[in-house]
Amino acid sequence: MLATNGIKPLASFTTLGELEVYLSKGSVDVIICQICPACEAGLLLLSVLNRMHKSGKLEQLPSVFWSGETSMIELARRGDDNCTFGLPAIGQTAWIKCMGGVAMTALESLARLAKAAGIHVEILHQCGAIALNDAFRAALLIHAKNDAEPAQATFDSLAEDEIISALTTGEGLRFVFQPQFDLLSRRVVGAEALVRWKHQRFGDIPPSVMIPLVNHLGLDLLLFSLVEMWAIKVMLALKHENYRIPIAVNASAKTLCTPQFAERLAARMHGVGLPTHLLKLELTEDVPEPDELLLSAALTAIRAKGFQISLDDFGVGAATMNLLVNISFDEVKIDGSFVRALGEYSSSGKVISGFINWARLLTSNVVAEGIEDESTIPMLHRLGCRVGQGYALAHPMEFDDFMVFMKKQN
Ligand code: C2E
Ligand code: MG
Ligand code: MG
Repeated sequence: MLATNGIKPLASFTTLGELEVYLSKGSVDVIICQICPACEAGLLLLSVLNRMHKSGKLEQLPSVFWSGETSMIELARRGDDNCTFGLPAIGQTAWIKCMGGVAMTALESLARLAKAAGIHVEILHQCGAIALNDAFRAALLIHAKNDAEPAQATFDSLAEDEIISALTTGEGLRFVFQPQFDLLSRRVVGAEALVRWKHQRFGDIPPSVMIPLVNHLGLDLLLFSLVEMWAIKVMLALKHENYRIPIAVNASAKTLCTPQFAERLAARMHGVGLPTHLLKLELTEDVPEPDELLLSAALTAIRAKGFQISLDDFGVGAATMNLLVNISFDEVKIDGSFVRALGEYSSSGKVISGFINWARLLTSNVVAEGIEDESTIPMLHRLGCRVGQGYALAHPMEFDDFMVFMKKQN
């Protein structure tokens, strides 16, 4: 089938060892492996690729296609716990879908972990030429996207004085606003302010490069003040048009723990005639605060002044569970990686549903981030998530565009 589809050159191996030798000699685009009960090589392959890539033995990570015989296996519920979520009731049986004797949900979890490590895995649910062609097309798109994305190393020579100069003069900095929507009515219920930096030599520097640099230089409070200025500008313009939606600004724990942060912020809001509840502070986890008591006290002081506090990127990062248990938040934002996995992996719905239930028990509102696919919106709503943001709803926009967008929405 591969040969008739014009795919060449082809090579075939029966052991991981042989494949490893072949991979170390040159680059390979796709590895197709059979998942079967007697052989675990297809599963172990991912960690081999990861190890080779990390040690520099592999220039390019190949895409991996899993294929295998699918079957339904009977699962009988043991009567040893009270949890019925997603499982049959005690005494009943359920059927789980398997490929090569491995539960599909287990394969999906592995594929998700591999994706986080940069390895694209396609599970070929059908074994015809069409499914194979679709998988090749998806792999090609992934390779093209990876090639187009500038490597992190490109920015390595960013000088510290360049970011200091950008933050102090404002040169090259822009601030954009991404609306948040009620997922049922599609009304705009808020917006998040995000920074953009256009460098003279490198062009657009992604926040994932810029923010760690800002934090490393201890300039987080300066950045916060700039974003806050723009957030106030938007809030005043919205107030003028009679829209009362909160604007969210990202802030690290270090920023929020600055002495007298709440008092100063409240004074600035009152000074321009804005109520504090219109400003939401999203706690990012990029600089974790080791002193949880200090963080809890700082967040309580901020909330006491009427500001809303949101926990950003919930579900990723080591400390978020702990934070949610020990500190109260007005809102929890489910990280986009879970939301994007919703259409792809069946287990994601259960994970998101668990997050939502937990947040509800702790009286927090839930926002789904990174909604890229329109079809996940009704799914999220069914799971109990009322608010969301993402490219499927609206991209981040410049101040003027955002105001035009708001007027059109109304
Ligand atoms: P975040 O606070 O979780 O912001 C959401 C990020 O998701 C933004 O990335 C936004 O552009 C992106 N996004 C929105 N919709 C989608 C979607 O449908 N798909 C995908 N893949 N992404 C989507 P951005 O602007 O690159 O910012 C990345 C992170 O950098 C932010 O994550 C935040 O932690 C940090 N950041 C951005 N602006 C600021 C800022 O002004 N101050 C601070 N302290 N951190 C900021
Ligand atoms: Mg955020
Ligand atoms: Mg986030």
